[in-house]
Amino acid sequence: MTQRLPQRRSLVTALPGPRSQALTTRRAAVVAAGVGSSVPVYAADADGGIILDVDGNSLIDLGSGIAVTGVGASHPAVAAAVAAQAARFTHTCFMVTPYEGYIQVAEELAALTPGDHAKRSALFNSGAEAVENAIKVARSVTGRGAVVAFDHAYHGRTNLTMALTAKASPYKSHFGPFTPEIYRMPMSYPYRDRPGLSGAQAAARAVELIERQIGADSVAAVIIEPIQGEGGFIVPAPGFLPALAQWAAAHGVVFIADEVQTGFARTGAWFASEHEGVVPDIVTMAKGIAGGMPLAAITGRAELLDAVHPGGLGGTYGGNPVACAAALATIDVMRTEDLPARARRIEQLALPRLRTLAKELDIIGDVRGRGAMLAVELVRPGGADPAPELAKAVAAEALARGVVILTCGSYGNVIRLLPPLVIGDELLSDGLDVLEQALCAGNHTGVKEN
Ligand SMILES: *Cc1c(COP(=O)(O)O)cnc(C)c1O
Repeated sequence: MTQRLPQRRSLVTALPGPRSQALTTRRAAVVAAGVGSSVPVYAADADGGIILDVDGNSLIDLGSGIAVTGVGASHPAVAAAVAAQAARFTHTCFMVTPYEGYIQVAEELAALTPGDHAKRSALFNSGAEAVENAIKVARSVTGRGAVVAFDHAYHGRTNLTMALTAKASPYKSHFGPFTPEIYRMPMSYPYRDRPGLSGAQAAARAVELIERQIGADSVAAVIIEPIQGEGGFIVPAPGFLPALAQWAAAHGVVFIADEVQTGFARTGAWFASEHEGVVPDIVTMAKGIAGGMPLAAITGRAELLDAVHPGGLGGTYGGNPVACAAALATIDVMRTEDLPARARRIEQLALPRLRTLAKELDIIGDVRGRGAMLAVELVRPGGADPAPELAKAVAAEALARGVVILTCGSYGNVIRLLPPLVIGDELLSDGLDVLEQALCAGNHTGVKEN
């Protein structure tokens, strides 16, 4: 498809430019300091793989606003659907005067999520809210209290989801006390696990701890990201997810796949659970679902979601009609432009390059990911000690050259690629060239420091 903005990187000022700097000054006077931004550059426009800043710089977007704008940040079909719905009505509240768009989204989710069993959905505003509601359903249905989450997990910033999230700083520090009955188990992390530990063995390690420390019949739910996002794009060893799902099914435990980051074509399938044939009892979704409009969902087995008492699930804005219109347009674009295939193409273009680079640069400990969710874990040369300062330096170097790249990881040492799925091959290739230059510069520094 043709894009509105030229799909070319171009810098007309140093970054941040004077207008961005002025906004940073205004911001400091009125915006809470606790709200951070990865880059001090302010957006004026965004389209395809380009973010145009307020100083006229065209930056390559390799972050998609954290895996949100898979179809781009201003896809004409999404923009038109939003405008048309906003012109009719922006809100009535689905709990007061319902409307068709909500039902249409639920129909799409029933068709797209893994498994061909009867499904029901409920819509919300944010990923954290979806996770909260999945846990509410699991506790209500099972009559059990305990919830199992994993090391390196990220599930959100509300009280319950902070408790589920693994990393203290910056997500949890000073924000407790947290909701009780959350238990954390070891994740399958092939790069850092004992060499040769299989997925089945890693699952057995977790299950043994669950049974010994909690007792299976006290566990309401196991919640896991099929590929961990904020925790470092950790792809568990093959067999880990299926073994956990099987154990959950055998013990009446609700298996929740948190696909907020991995969902909607990002990993080369509609949902990352599909890569291992896992059929979750409940899937949580948000981020990529609505082309940038705030929408979240849980979709799960009909007998689970229908067991909650009427009125037990909801929220004023949940399933907002404008957000639903955006989701329907986004899903249609993903289907007609076959964006799962586009994500696999991005993997084909990027992964071999990153793997080659890993052989050349001592600071690259691991390269991993699926589809358009790829990562480079940076370490001190000669070992596996995390190098967060290098990840920061590489992202800063890339930004100086006009590429927005995000970091992540429990140790802050992972460079992650989450390009819009609609990014063109040439633009992606230019972005990867810049990343390569930034990594080479970082490697030089890393070697020197050692
Ligand atoms: C981002 C994220 C969340 C939280 O979503 P919000 O919309 O920020 O509340 C939950 N789970 C995962 C896996 C995420 O990546």
